[in-house]
Order: sequence, then structure tokens, then C-alpha cells
Amino acid sequence: MSRYAEPMARLIEELKKLPGVGTRSAQRFAFHLLRASDADAQALADALLALKAGLRLCSICNNVTDVDPCAYCTSATRNPRLVCVVEEPTSIASIERTRSYQGVYHVLHGTLSPLHGVGPDQLRAGNLLSRAALGEIDEIILATSPTLEGEATATWLANALRPHSVRITRIATGVPAGSDIEYADEVTMSRAMDNRRDV
Ligand SMILES: [Zn+2]
Repeated sequence: MSRYAEPMARLIEELKKLPGVGTRSAQRFAFHLLRASDADAQALADALLALKAGLRLCSICNNVTDVDPCAYCTSATRNPRLVCVVEEPTSIASIERTRSYQGVYHVLHGTLSPLHGVGPDQLRAGNLLSRAALGEIDEIILATSPTLEGEATATWLANALRPHSVRITRIATGVPAGSDIEYADEVTMSRAMDNRRDV
């Protein structure tokens, strides 16, 4: 039996599902919320519900958005025929910080990881492959991280795209090998994009 009252134990269990939150942090958050005002607790609950109710994935690029298609896909100043493929929506922010990229994005929501049972079918690549097949894209920049999984994903995607007449490029390894592009500074990221090579 848990040493906490049921509502507390339940909250702690839910908080522990968050990335990087262990039992200790979950307990700390739960007791903080218990001491918080009703209004603050309500605001957090409302924000969680609104997140799930108000956000969805863009039907074109899979980015998280409140309008479909998303702001990148409908932007009049972006080149829809240049597509940068990233692992997660958070990677878009790293590329946007460079202020030099003028194309659109495609979010895979993961990387190939046989050890964790993630195969090509679990990646959201289908809509990208169909757009390439329809001749809607001139260049696809593979901007997955230079990690084992990121490289495997880039290789798989390059092969899947090969039959279509589209230029396929890979960002340069200006992003430190083995690191996540999410943490690349804008100069490094800029250089990685500028020095991309055909694959
Ligand atoms: Zn979009």
C-alpha cells in the first residue's frame, strides 16, 4: 500500500511518466501543487486539457500546430519545394534560430531504433514519401541528429526517396557527432545547413 493518500499517490504516478522526472521530483511537484492555490492548480489542469484539445499534427508536415495546415506550410514567404526533415518538433526551433532557412519542414516524430522496436512503420514518413512521389519537392534536407539512430534514419529515408526525382542532402557534421541537433547553437546549425552534401 502507498504511504500517500490515494489522490496524492495518483498524481505522483502520473508525474513520474514525464521525461526526467523520478520519484523524488514527482513527490516534490505533487506537494508543491498541494500547497498551491486552487486557482494555480486549476490553471495547470486547464493548460493540460487545452494542450490536448487545441493541438494536433499538421496534415502536411506533422508539426504540432493549432491550425491545420501549420503556419510553416501555409507561409507565403517560404519555399514549399525545399523540405527539411527533423526528428521532433523541437528541432524546428534550432533551425529557425539560424534565421537563414527559408524552406518548410517535415517531422518524423522519432528515429529508427530496432532496440526499442521503432521501425520505418512507426515513423511519420508516409506523407513525405507521397509528396516526393507526386513531384512536389525539389530538395529534401535530412537533418536528423548525427547519432546512431539519426544516421540510420537518414540512410533509410535517403533510400526510400531514391526512386523519386528529388535532390537528397544531409546536413554537415558541424553538429558535434553523437549529439542532438536540438542543442546545436545557431552558428553550428547554420554551418551544418550551408555545408550540406548530396547523398
Ligand atoms: Zn505543416
